[in-house]
Order: sequence, then structure tokens, then C-alpha cells
Amino acid sequence: MEKPRIAIHKFTSCDGCQLAFLHLGEDLLDLAEKVDIVHFVEMGPINPLAKVDVAYIEGSISTPEEKERIQHIRTNSRYVITIGACATAGGIQALRNLGNTQEWMKAIYATPDTISTLNTSTAISDHIKVDFEIYGCPVNTQQILASLLSVLNKVNPTASKDKVCLECKRLGYTCVMVTKGEPCMGPVTHTGCGALCPSVGRACYACYGPAENTNTASFTQWLSSLGLSDAEIARRFLFIQNNAPAFKEAGLKLRTKKKP
Ligand code: SF4
Ligand code: SF4
Ligand code: SF4
Repeated sequence: MEKPRIAIHKFTSCDGCQLAFLHLGEDLLDLAEKVDIVHFVEMGPINPLAKVDVAYIEGSISTPEEKERIQHIRTNSRYVITIGACATAGGIQALRNLGNTQEWMKAIYATPDTISTLNTSTAISDHIKVDFEIYGCPVNTQQILASLLSVLNKVNPTASKDKVCLECKRLGYTCVMVTKGEPCMGPVTHTGCGALCPSVGRACYACYGPAENTNTASFTQWLSSLGLSDAEIARRFLFIQNNAPAFKEAGLKLRTKKKP
């Protein structure tokens, strides 16, 4: 019987999310017996135009070439899964959307005319239909494996919609906001990381992006009560997930707020 074919494509990104596949270790060898990995540049096979059952996409759309390439991938793929903050929200490079890309290019590069780029960095779902999104910066191996097993078993993958706080409490970690007054973003952040930062006594910085139904206005007041200025709070929203709608709206509101 023919094995399902999968591809892992890279767009504008740091390659960190693709490593979630390589972190499978020996399980990757088991996986390679069950599926044909037909395109995965980091691992070896190169066939970007192959027709596949599942295409994983890392990275955002930030160049004219990427805008065109993603359309071909959608045409050639039965199921498309985006992985990581770059692919699901535009990534940290979407900070360019808040400024003037052309002016920044002139300020940074000696020969900006030789660089082909778009003025924005945007999520894959802004360009094509995406079947499932996996949040994180980077995503983790369990998320990847669970999504692939679901699709191979003809079940739609699902993800918990909880906030990091719930995961943190379930795992019994000490709250760094309550005990140390640290500005932890857990109350507004999507779960999936296993509350990694609180597990080592650090505040969450929201790399998994906004959870569903977040009350960013109330959370802003809470951060304010911890002594953070509007500018500091805005920076927390406009960080790795700066282009995710809930965080973008909250951050921009603070940036444009009139001083009393
Ligand atoms: S989401 Fe983070 S880890 Fe993944 S490719 Fe983008 S920058 Fe790298
Ligand atoms: S440490 Fe952060 S994520 Fe954990 S309960 Fe406290 S605020 Fe929530
Ligand atoms: S705790 Fe927050 S910052 Fe740390 S890995 Fe999880 S989502 Fe990312």
C-alpha cells in the first residue's frame, strides 16, 4: 500500500519549528517507515512541488516569491498545517507592519535595492486556506506528532484552548505573579507548552500567542497595578506575537493612548 506523503516547507522563519521534527529522534525513523517525507530541506529530500497528503508550513509570507509559492503548495496539498508564530501570526518579523519597511531597509542595508521584499510579514492563513494551526515559538514535538497521527487516522487534529495559567495550575507550579510580582503573560496566552517558563520560576512572555476570549483590557489594568508603564505593557503585547489580532489591538491601543 502506498504510504502517505508529507512535506515540510520553510518560509520566512528561523528554522526553529522544523527542529520539532528532528527532535523526534528515533521516533523519526519509525515515522519514516509509515510516511514518505518527500520534501524537507533540513533533513535531505527536496521536491517543493510534490503532491502530498500533509504539508507543514513554517514561516511567514514576507517576499513576493513566497506569496506565489504558497499558492502552489496549497494546490498540491490535501491538508495544510501551519507551525509556529511566524506561520500563524507573521512572527516577530511582523513588527515591520507597524513601521515603514522601505525606510528601515535604507537605514539597515548598504544596497536595499537588491532586496526583494514585501512591506509586510503576514500569517499563511492570510493567503490560503489553512486546515490546522499549531501555535508556539517554537512549537513542540508532541504537538507535531499528535497532529500528524490525527490526520493519518483521518481525524481532524484538535488543540486545547486553555490559557497557560490553567496548565500551570494543573501541573502544580508556583505562580510567579502572585509570589514574586512578575508580569507573567500566562492569563492571556494560549496553552500547549506545558507552562514551560513558570516551571523554572520565570514569567511567561506569551510566545504561544493569545488564548481565546482573552480580556486584554482587564489584564492591562492588572499589569499596570504591578507598576508597569503603558509603554512596557505595550511591548509585552507587541513581541513575538505582535501581529496576532488580540495582542496587536491591545498593544496599539496602549501606544496611541493619550497621556492624562
Ligand atoms: S515561530 Fe519562532 S521558532 Fe518557529 S520559525 Fe518562527 S521564530 Fe523560529
Ligand atoms: S505563573 Fe503565570 S501562568 Fe502560572 S498561574 Fe501564575 S500568572 Fe498564570
Ligand atoms: S510559558 Fe509562555 S513564554 Fe514560556 S514557552 Fe510557554 S507560552 Fe512560551
